[in-house]
Amino acid sequence: MDMISIVVPCYNEEESMPKFYEEVIKVTSQMNIELEIIFVDDGSKDKTLDVAKKLHEQDTKVRFISFSRNFGKEAGMLAGLEAAKGDYVAVMDADLQDPPSLLPEMYEAVTTGGYDCAATRRTTRKGEPPIRSFFARMFYRIINRISDADIVDGARDFRLMSRKMVDAVLSLGEYNRFSKGIFGWVGFKTKWLEYVNVERVAGETKWSFWKLFKYSMEGIMAFSTTPLYITSAMGFIVCIVAFIMACFYAVKALIFGDPAAGFPTMVCIMLFLGGIQLVGIGVVGMYLSKTYLETKHRPIYIVRETEEDIKK
Ligand code: UDP
Ligand code: MG
Repeated sequence: MDMISIVVPCYNEEESMPKFYEEVIKVTSQMNIELEIIFVDDGSKDKTLDVAKKLHEQDTKVRFISFSRNFGKEAGMLAGLEAAKGDYVAVMDADLQDPPSLLPEMYEAVTTGGYDCAATRRTTRKGEPPIRSFFARMFYRIINRISDADIVDGARDFRLMSRKMVDAVLSLGEYNRFSKGIFGWVGFKTKWLEYVNVERVAGETKWSFWKLFKYSMEGIMAFSTTPLYITSAMGFIVCIVAFIMACFYAVKALIFGDPAAGFPTMVCIMLFLGGIQLVGIGVVGMYLSKTYLETKHRPIYIVRETEEDIKK
């Protein structure tokens, strides 16, 4: 019998977790599989850990990992994937926005369908502020242009992967983890299932606009060096323009003499060049800062407690 591990990153999800557990059990009890559910408590401030412990007492299929502080969803997913023992591993949100009812279909795709992975994308962004949808769309368009990882618009993190793919994902040891990119980068045959966006059952979203913006920047930095090329190209173009202008003014001075004029032009050009230089330094700096963090080799998460500690 195959074992499926379900990894659930949880940050302040005390209300959603019991509902999630029930739903998953309901669906998976009809599948011919062994199951483990790994709740990763990402330094929650509410009773998430207690709820996980209670569920573990009720049912030893439930495991949990609790972080020493909030490390972010990426770290939670990584911890779960590392701990998972299953032949197949699913990643799901605790808020039931990833419908467990898709699990049988996903399992079928990876066992008999000849796929290595079954992933989901939502077809609509209903219930989301329009500005957010607009920027999200733009982000996907840009990142797909400039990176070689295939990042699908509307793709959720909800997916079921074969052991091979999980191991491939884990073999990428980078500190700045952008899962949407990593999943695309490792390749493998992925079946895409679509579903209509579902609102979360309880609690509230942890993503502010600013957080999403930072996340998207991280995605671009992690999977593309195009911004660096654009910066170089910009410098190059400005040099050519400067050269042409120099020729133009030299000829003009030879023909018409050289009356001292053009201060406003000077100011504009100086500001423009200063701006371009700052942008360039900024872009280089962003990559440098990522490199700096990578070279520190800090752990991506720190575990405070797991279900193993209870056994002792
Ligand atoms: N999450 C987490 N750590 C964080 C933020 C979120 O583990 O720092 C979890 C959260 O508990 C949920 C999932 O990541 O299970 C997705 O979060 P959320 O529902 O807030 O995002 P959305 O569905 O709105 O994109
Ligand atoms: Mg959600």
